[in-house]
Amino acid sequence: RAKRQGKNNYRLYSSHQDISSYKKYILEKDMRKAIVNEDFEIYYQPQVNKEGIIYGAEALLRWNHKEWGLVSPGEFIPLAEENHLINRIGDWVIRKVCAQLRDWKDKDLTIRPIAINLSPIRFMKTDLVAYVKRQLDLFDVPAKYLEFEITEGSLLKEEKTVISNIEKLRNLGVKIAIDDFGTGYSSLKYLRYFQVDTIKIDQAFIKDVNDGSNVNSAIVSSVLHLAREMGIKAVAEGVEEYEQFEFLKQKECDIIQGYLFSKPVPVNQLEKMMWAGYLKPSKVKQLKEREE
Ligand code: C2E
Ligand code: MG
Ligand code: MG
Ligand code: MG
Repeated sequence: RAKRQGKNNYRLYSSHQDISSYKKYILEKDMRKAIVNEDFEIYYQPQVNKEGIIYGAEALLRWNHKEWGLVSPGEFIPLAEENHLINRIGDWVIRKVCAQLRDWKDKDLTIRPIAINLSPIRFMKTDLVAYVKRQLDLFDVPAKYLEFEITEGSLLKEEKTVISNIEKLRNLGVKIAIDDFGTGYSSLKYLRYFQVDTIKIDQAFIKDVNDGSNVNSAIVSSVLHLAREMGIKAVAEGVEEYEQFEFLKQKECDIIQGYLFSKPVPVNQLEKMMWAGYLKPSKVKQLKEREE
C-alpha cells in the first residue's frame, strides 16, 4: 500500500503506456459510468508556507474502481484525453471544488485557495469561462479561491482560445498557475504570452536540490529569483526531504507542497488539518529507512 505512493511508482503511473492493454480497455469502458456513478473522488494535498502554515491545497483526482481499487490520474487522465471524456471530468472537478468551498464557508472554516488541474483540452474550449462563472455564481464562491493549473504544451494547439480563456478567467479573479514548470519546451514563452499568478517548480528539480553543487539547485534558485522579479508566487512540488525544505526556505520559496508535509488526503482529513491551521514536516526520511 505505502509503496503505491513511492517515487518509482509515480514515474510508472505518469505514463499510460505502462498499463497493460487489458486494464486500459476496462478503464476506458468503465469511465463513462464512473462519471455518472460518481466513482471519482477528489483528494487534496495541502500547500504550506515556510512556517508550515496551510496556505491552500491542490485537488487531485482519484478513481475508486471496483476491480482495480484506487486508480491514479496518471493512468486514466491520458485515456480520458484520448476519448474526450476529459471535458466532462474536468467540469465535474470544477463543480465539486466550488461546492466544497461553499461547504467550508458554511462551516465557518477559513477557506483556502484550491488549485485544480485542468487539461489543455479543456483550456481550448470556448465555453470554459462561462462554465466556471456559472459554478462560482451557483455556489456563491469568490473567484480568488480557485486556481487553475495549466501544463506546458497546452499552447501548441488553439493558442488564441487558450490565451483568451486565461485572460478572461483572470478578469473574473480566478488565479492561473503554470504546472510542472521547466519540464516543457516553452516555459519562458508562457510567461510572455499571458500573466500568471503562480509557477509550480516541477518535482524533478527538487530532487537533489539541497546538494549545493548540482544543476538542480542552480535551476531552482534561478526560477525562484525569476518569480520574485516578476511578482509571481512560487510553489515547490514534490518536497520529500527536510533538507530540501531547508534549501527552499533559505531561497525564500513562497509555498511548499510534498510528502514531507502531507500526501494528498480525502476531504475529512484535510479539514482536520485546516482546523489546526498548520503542519509540521514529517520525518519521512527516517521512516523510509526503517521500512527498508
Ligand atoms: P501534478 O499536477 O503535477 O500533481 C502532483 C503529483 O505529484 C500528484 O500525483 C501528487 O500526488 C504527487 N506528489 C505530491 N507530493 C509528492 C512528493 O513529495 N513526492 C512524490 N513522489 N510525488 C508527490 P497524482 O495525484 O498521482 O497526479 C498525477 C498527475 O495527474 C498530476 O500531476 C496532474 O497532472 C494529473 N491530475 C491529477 N488530478 C487531475 C485532474 O483533476 N484533472 C487533470 N486534467 N489532471 C489531473
Ligand atoms: Mg498540478
Ligand atoms: Mg506538477
Ligand atoms: Mg504532472
